[in-house]
Amino acid sequence: MHDLIEGAARFRRDVFPAKAELFADLAHTHRPPALFIGCSDARVVPELITQSEPGELFVIRTAGNLVPAHTPFPDGVAAGIEYAVSVLSVTEAVVCGHSACGAMTALAERHDLSAAPAVAGWLRHADASLARSSGGLDSLVRENVRAQLANLATHPSVARALAAGTLTLRGWVYDIPTGAVEQLDPVAA
Ligand code: ZN
Repeated sequence: MHDLIEGAARFRRDVFPAKAELFADLAHTHRPPALFIGCSDARVVPELITQSEPGELFVIRTAGNLVPAHTPFPDGVAAGIEYAVSVLSVTEAVVCGHSACGAMTALAERHDLSAAPAVAGWLRHADASLARSSGGLDSLVRENVRAQLANLATHPSVARALAAGTLTLRGWVYDIPTGAVEQLDPVAA
């Protein structure tokens, strides 16, 4: 297994010096222009696939890149969204799905999730995605991005920014074997 401690030491030794000025600036500045909501899948690395520098992406990763719709109750995803949009004033928000997504595969193929009740419960946030899908994994991955964009728009901070014209929502699908990003048609929120 990749040694995480050794990786951290290598970062400090070999990578950090070339970006020392950037990190000195970032020590007291946090002004990312974009919110990136992606899957927790280890193969989908937001900064890598968008070639973003530290400080440029505010990232939320969840299983299946699911965004629960707004409720009156606090949760971590909602807090991250509100902080990015209302406090950091990001001007762009991306929901990024991907090929071979384990969460979407479980739904598309109706896997038995009785041994993983937390996963099963979480994936209910994709009920609308399943309802929109014409069947098959590719369709579900795309419709899930659209459904989660719609969920994102139910958050008051996002609704406010959309009404003010200060935020643009984008739907992406990342293809692991080719590295390509497909941009889905803009969705009416
Ligand atoms: Zn995934």
